[in-house]
Amino acid sequence: MSTRPTSAKKAARAAASAAAHALTADVDGAKDAVASAVTTAQVALTGTGDSPDPYVPRHGDARYDVTHYDLDLTYRILGNHLDGRAVISLRTRVAVRSIDLDLNDLRITKFSAKGAKVARWSQSRAKTTIRFASAVAAGTEMTLTMAYRGNPHPMRGIDGLAGWEELDDGVIVASQPHGAPSWYPCNDRAANKATYTITVTTDSAYSVVANGVLASRRTSGQRTTWRYELAEPMSPYLATVQIGQYELTRHEPAKASLGRLPAGSRTVPWTLAAPPMLRRAATSAFADQGAMIELYTKLFGPYPFAEYTAVVTADRLDIPLESQTLSTFGSNYCTRDWPSQRLIAHELAHQWFGNAVTAAAWKDIWLHEGFACYAEWLWSPEAGLATTDEQARTHWAKLSRLPQDLVLGDPGPQDMFDDRVYKRGALLLHALRLTIGSDTFFRVLRTWVERYKYTTVTTEDFIATAEDVADRDLGALFAAWLDEAPLPPLP
Ligand SMILES: [Zn+2]
Repeated sequence: MSTRPTSAKKAARAAASAAAHALTADVDGAKDAVASAVTTAQVALTGTGDSPDPYVPRHGDARYDVTHYDLDLTYRILGNHLDGRAVISLRTRVAVRSIDLDLNDLRITKFSAKGAKVARWSQSRAKTTIRFASAVAAGTEMTLTMAYRGNPHPMRGIDGLAGWEELDDGVIVASQPHGAPSWYPCNDRAANKATYTITVTTDSAYSVVANGVLASRRTSGQRTTWRYELAEPMSPYLATVQIGQYELTRHEPAKASLGRLPAGSRTVPWTLAAPPMLRRAATSAFADQGAMIELYTKLFGPYPFAEYTAVVTADRLDIPLESQTLSTFGSNYCTRDWPSQRLIAHELAHQWFGNAVTAAAWKDIWLHEGFACYAEWLWSPEAGLATTDEQARTHWAKLSRLPQDLVLGDPGPQDMFDDRVYKRGALLLHALRLTIGSDTFFRVLRTWVERYKYTTVTTEDFIATAEDVADRDLGALFAAWLDEAPLPPLP
């Protein structure tokens, strides 16, 4: 049973949810309906119609969906030079005369299209516009092929810099939320998930880690080509390339232990990628990674991808970051203490919450960060520290002393990564658990992942899932935590 929204805010959220779903709807057989839904969705999400998500203005184009990216990159570390070839398969969602791609400060040198006749294309600093010779019908499939090159660098957004970045000796790509166009041409909206092939050729002294499974590695002369295949659809900002003098240590899936999973069942292999000089510290810091995978598999359901990789850079980094199938940590997280361990757990949890199940719009960022933060508190007792309930009550007390001016359900682009989003989101989940009981709560989480993995979602979808699984109206609980600024008490 799902209770219909009653309050005005819930109704508004439901409308936005319906619109966001229309944005991800399949166009086949419903072209007119989708065309009008796109218009409604753009109005609902932005009020202007020029950008699908107001948290990342001027990114993305809701008129088409990319279905596959085939990226073939040659990278010279000395000089930070990128030579790229992108083959982009896409399908139009409405009738179009033109479409836009996002690519920042890299120059396209060759362009061709199959499946539609292109009259001309033009490139400004961050947008490439493709104009067709005549109107292209909704549902048209086409392939765009382009060669591009330049010196990639992080891209500026409302929230700061993100994207391709040089390390002291290598590269990190940390694109959340707006940095994807810093290294490849894309339709940069989270709601457009696609599959990827990422091929990188670079100096043989370096290792390359990218999304998905390593399909081949070939060395020719001084260069090595690494090809990764990602079968599970991914939002553009989660695509990444990590280049460094890394040793890759693969851990085969552990047999279930500690009673977390049924006897005989297995999890997934995971790889530690770290510079040789950090190997000992990294091995110690990540000693519980396999057990974390096991715990979360038990609580959230099967790990949603084929493998997991933790990359440790030689550089220190302010914060770790999740990408689909891997996470990246600075050398400063190679410790056994809680500040590192909680983040090793946090980034892993994003594989379920954020990567497999992804918010269609950034205002719903709590669906990523609240869940990953709650996963830290679930790991805490396993690490011999406070219980999940003690963690929640400690953080409730801390949060209650901070300004009460943040609305979790729409924090605004300036505050989307504010720590209060993380903690309040986690506290909402704890409040839900205390309200419906632990068994039902974890059934909600497993149903959520099972129902929505590889797609994009809204807050309203989560409320509906919780009400569906718990078989009760939870509207008042969610409204207090999501729509009002004051911190509600824990039940
Ligand atoms: Zn996070």
